[in-house]
Amino acid sequence: MNLSAAQEEFRQFLRKESHRITPERFEVLDYALSYEGHFGADELYLKMKTNNSNVSRATVYNTLELLAACDLLAKRNFGENKSRYESNYERKNHDHLICISCGAIKEFSEPKIEQIVEEVSKKLGYDVSGHSFNIFGKCTNENCKLNKNAK
Ligand SMILES: [Zn+2]
Ligand SMILES: [Zn+2]
Repeated sequence: MNLSAAQEEFRQFLRKESHRITPERFEVLDYALSYEGHFGADELYLKMKTNNSNVSRATVYNTLELLAACDLLAKRNFGENKSRYESNYERKNHDHLICISCGAIKEFSEPKIEQIVEEVSKKLGYDVSGHSFNIFGKCTNENCKLNKNAK
């Protein structure tokens, strides 16, 4: 993936908001936008550590917040007591199915939901900046048990 446009966007955001532009922040950007799927701050921090990065946990945490603030990352809450992030860079808007048994997260795009969001917000006089739609339940396939055992 070519991240140079994302890096430029982040650089401009940091400058505009008077945050310091540091190589560590861009290292977090690279890891976060290359991460497959949904991750918590600690998972990303551990992944960086494993790859011999010297970035501190605090820098990972606050850089993820900054990346979410400039919309390069989407911040999610899947009903756990932690936030998760995922790349929002060159990605289509989507919603999630969350398995409460094995924790698997499936993504889907449903135009009807976009339509409802538009209709409801128009009716109630709202300027939408985003939406989050989660479906909780249990996978109905064999993998659910397998995932659970692997955890
Ligand atoms: Zn997602
Ligand atoms: Zn499951």
